[in-house]
Amino acid sequence: MTEPSPPAPSAAARREALRTLLATAGVDALLVTDLVNIRYLTGFTGSNAALLVHVDGDAGSRLCTDGRYRAQVGAEVPDLEPVIDRACAAALAALAPQLGVQELGFESDHVTVDGHTGLVEQAQPVTLVRAPGLVQRLRVVKDANELAALRTACGIADTALAELIDGGGLAPGRTEVEVALDLEYRMREHGATAPSFAMIVAAGPHSAVPHHSPTATPLRAGDLVKLDFGALVDGYHSDMTRTVVLGRAAEWQRELYALVAAAQAAGRAALVPGTDVADVDAAARGVVAEAGRAEQFVHPLGHGVGLQIHEAPLLAGTSSASLATGMVVTVEPGVYLDGRGGVRIEDTLVVRDGEPELLTHFPKDLLEI
Ligand code: ZN
Ligand code: ZN
Repeated sequence: MTEPSPPAPSAAARREALRTLLATAGVDALLVTDLVNIRYLTGFTGSNAALLVHVDGDAGSRLCTDGRYRAQVGAEVPDLEPVIDRACAAALAALAPQLGVQELGFESDHVTVDGHTGLVEQAQPVTLVRAPGLVQRLRVVKDANELAALRTACGIADTALAELIDGGGLAPGRTEVEVALDLEYRMREHGATAPSFAMIVAAGPHSAVPHHSPTATPLRAGDLVKLDFGALVDGYHSDMTRTVVLGRAAEWQRELYALVAAAQAAGRAALVPGTDVADVDAAARGVVAEAGRAEQFVHPLGHGVGLQIHEAPLLAGTSSASLATGMVVTVEPGVYLDGRGGVRIEDTLVVRDGEPELLTHFPKDLLEI
């Protein structure tokens, strides 16, 4: 699926940044086959492509796609010489010797075993070198263009939720599917290309299922209703969760909500550059554990968001990265009581020196509708 691409004035700068990593990885060029990484490095949005980034500059770099995208590649990527061939990775591997490459890095976290066998044959006498995760390393810190798209995407989701609630869209009798469609329609009206992932609308006991898919179940008075959703803008994803109560909250719902809200605030407060992601997770998880509910918080605290809905860094006890200024992450603790209901509160934030920048502004007080 293709959505219109934004102008990508920073794509050339991203390729320059990648060249620094190529030098340290000991390769003359990188063969990029992951389409998300190709979009990041060029702005190209077609569904078949490969990119060879030469360490010496764009003159020796090539972007390959097939005949369907001949016009599109010229419009989206005027600053790289195109190669038109259906077997993109093989075609660029075969060109590598002519481009003066001796050690060709490839995305070993993306290329299949069979694909690798073909590349080795095509690239002869060039040596193929494993070079996983180089572009992902750049992608964790967002540039100004990316932050602008993420702000817009988060703003659309905020607006759509406010409209849904103001318009009476969350009411007993409506089904989870109807609410999901309503929210999607409103996001698209405000300029989203699509929802950023399969939306979660989970009412009553369903709210205790972290990744529930919307069903024909009607919402009922007294239900907790958990909405986890986002908008896609220029290829960038937004991600937020709010949990509301239909009618007056029961005491257990109020307590559960207050606990998750306190954990979420602790997680946000721990978003400081230089902090280990495991410590951010622990800051929020500690609040839940102190209330004796550690076993009901069954997922990591959060994740990076950008050209993919889930990307590095993962905010989890098992992760080893540390935060840096310009990373965009979610903070989304949840506590789930099987058969009764659950609460999750999720924001997307930019890590900054000092306070993090909140991108999802919809209020987080317990909303009784
Ligand atoms: Zn989410
Ligand atoms: Zn999320």
